[in-house]
Amino acid sequence: MAIRNILKESDETLRKQSREVTVFDQRLWDLLDDMAQTMYKANGVGLAAVQVGVLKRVVVIDIGEGLIELINPVVVKTKGEVVDLEGCLSSPGEYGMVPRPKKVEVKAQDRNGKFFTIKGEDLLARALCHETDHLSGRLFKDLAQRMLTPKELEELG
Ligand code: ZN
Repeated sequence: MAIRNILKESDETLRKQSREVTVFDQRLWDLLDDMAQTMYKANGVGLAAVQVGVLKRVVVIDIGEGLIELINPVVVKTKGEVVDLEGCLSSPGEYGMVPRPKKVEVKAQDRNGKFFTIKGEDLLARALCHETDHLSGRLFKDLAQRMLTPKELEELG
């Protein structure tokens, strides 16, 4: 396993479309393991492969309830809306108020290619939407109603 370099938001790679994964092999598993390690090291709750420069539809999430690996994730259902604080490992130290669905249902494949459905609410719904957006080249600032001011950030600690 290895820590990978996380691209910053100015990197145009982050605006590209990620490609569907069709081969579920050691190379994919190494990527998943590296992504999880990189996310934990950076104290993040989610990371998309594009953020480490790999244009594949691969996401890892851990909101403190265990590691979730998602290959080719698609948001299939959404319900409600919540505006809350959101950040991104590609935009360190910056946070915005971003509207997201209260609940989502995502269809994805696991590391062996097996399809499954995951339901998320609040923070998990937010992470699922944020990371899935990365695969389409969308960043949280595109959706943010406003960014936090330096003073607000200070108060946030
Ligand atoms: Zn992000």
